[in-house]
Amino acid sequence: MNRVHVVGAGLAGLATAVSLARAGRAVVLYEASGQAGGRCRSYMDAKLACTIDNGNHLLLSGNQAAMRYLADIGASQELHGPPAARFPFLDLATGERWCLRPNGGPLPWWLLSPGRRVPGTKIWSYLSALRFAVAGSRTVTDCVGQDSVLFRRFWEPLAVAVLNTPAQTGAARLLWPVFRDTFAKGEAACRPRVAKTGLSNAFVEPALALLRKSGATLRFGCRLGQIQHEGGRARLLEFGDASVPLNDGDRVVLALPPAATGALLPALTVPEASHVIVNAHFALPEPAALPAMSPFLGLIGGTAQWLFVRGNVASITISAADAIAEASAEEIARRTWNDVAAALDRDPQTMPTYRVIKERRATFAQTPTEVLRRPTTRSAFANVFLAGDWIDTGLPATIEGAIRSGYSAARAVIRSGGTTGQAD
Ligand SMILES: Cc1cc2nc3c(=O)[nH]c(=O)nc-3n(C[C@H](O)[C@H](O)[C@H](O)COP(=O)(O)OP(=O)(O)OC[C@H]3O[C@@H](n4cnc5c(N)ncnc54)[C@H](O)[C@@H]3O)c2cc1C
Repeated sequence: MNRVHVVGAGLAGLATAVSLARAGRAVVLYEASGQAGGRCRSYMDAKLACTIDNGNHLLLSGNQAAMRYLADIGASQELHGPPAARFPFLDLATGERWCLRPNGGPLPWWLLSPGRRVPGTKIWSYLSALRFAVAGSRTVTDCVGQDSVLFRRFWEPLAVAVLNTPAQTGAARLLWPVFRDTFAKGEAACRPRVAKTGLSNAFVEPALALLRKSGATLRFGCRLGQIQHEGGRARLLEFGDASVPLNDGDRVVLALPPAATGALLPALTVPEASHVIVNAHFALPEPAALPAMSPFLGLIGGTAQWLFVRGNVASITISAADAIAEASAEEIARRTWNDVAAALDRDPQTMPTYRVIKERRATFAQTPTEVLRRPTTRSAFANVFLAGDWIDTGLPATIEGAIRSGYSAARAVIRSGGTTGQAD
C-alpha cells in the first residue's frame, strides 16, 4: 500500500495528516515527543494542579485556514470569544483604559470615533498601515516610525505579538496579509478567539481522534534522524533503530521546525535565527474575569504585554522576550505579577503559585532577511514536501500560517499522484 509519511505532529503536521486522511490517503504520522501539538499544546501542571497551555494563543475570526481546520476536526465549538470585535487595553504607566472596537463592513468608520480608537491618536496616522502592503524589505518602524502615541499603544504591541520580533527589526510585509484578512474586512473578521478549555482540546485531541478513526497510524517517540536518498527521491526514513523503506508511490511530508528540517536536508536554506516567548501562569485563589467579556487584555508600559484569564488561571505573555528570558523564573514571575495585580486589582505583595514557561525557539525571527530564507512546499526530492509555520505562506509564523502550510503540503502531495491509499 502506498502511504504518506507525515513527520512532526505540531499543527502543520496535524493539518496535513487530517487533510490527507479525509481525502482517503493512508497516513502514518510520526512525532519525536510523546505528545502531539508541538508549540501549541496543553499539559497537566503538577505545581499549579491544573491543565495549562504552553503559551497563550490568540486567533482572529478571519483566520480562515484555522477555522476550516477546526470545522474539519469537529472542534469549532472549542474556541470562544466576545460576540463582537473588542480589544481592551490598559496603560500601566498612566492607568488609562480603552477598548478598540472596529465596526462592521470594510469601511473603517470606527477610526472616526475617538471612543473606539486609541486615545491620543489622530485618524490619519492609522493610514500608515497601507505602507505594509508595499513594505518590501522594510521593517515595521521603517513604515510607521516609532515616536508616536499610536506606535507605543498600537503598532508596537501588535507587531511584536504577530511577529514575535521587535518592531525595529520585524518584517512589515508580514503584517499586511493579517490586516487584509482581518481588520480590512471589518468587525466580523477580527473577533478575538481563544481556546475555551485548552489548546489540546481545541487543536490536537479532536485531530488525533479523527486520524485514528480514519485508520491512520500514529507513532509517538519516533524521531526522524536521517533520510537516505537516491536518484532525486527519498528512499529510506531512519528513526533511531527503525528504518522505513519508501515505495515509489509513497510520499513524505516534513512538518518540523526549521533547524530539524535543515539537519535532515542540509542543502535547503532555512531561517536560522529565532526569538523567545515567555509565559507566566498564576493560580489565583478564585476564578477571575476581565472587563467587557474579553478573555484577554493588552498591557502597555509593563513587563507583560498581554494578560489572559481562564477560570482561576491568569497568564501573561511576553513576545520577543530574549532579554527577559535570561532572568530567573522567580524574577519574571515577580515582575509580571506586578502587572497582573495592577490589571486585576490584586495585592502586588501576595504572589500566588506560578509557573514560568520559556519557549526558546517560539518562532523564527521574522526579519526581512530571515523571511527571504523561507522555502516553499516543494523540496529538492520529488517525493518530499515541507510544512510548518516557517514555510513561505506569505503569512507570519502563527497557527494560521502553520495550518495553511499543512493544507498546501497535502494539496501538493495529492497533485503529485502516487499515493492513493489503495493496495498496489
Ligand atoms: C508561547 C507561544 C505563543 C504563541 N502564540 C501564538 C498566538 O497567540 N497565535 C498564533 O497564531 N500563534 C502563536 N504561536 C505560534 C504557533 O504556536 C506556531 O506557529 C505553531 O504551533 C507552529 O506549528 P508547527 O506545526 O509549524 O511547528 P511545531 O509546533 O514546532 O511542530 C513540529 C513538531 O515536530 C516535532 N519534531 C521535531 N523534530 C522531529 C524529528 N526529527 N522527528 C519527528 N518529529 C520531530 C516536534 O516535537 C513538534 O511536535 C505561539 C507560539 C508559542 C511557542
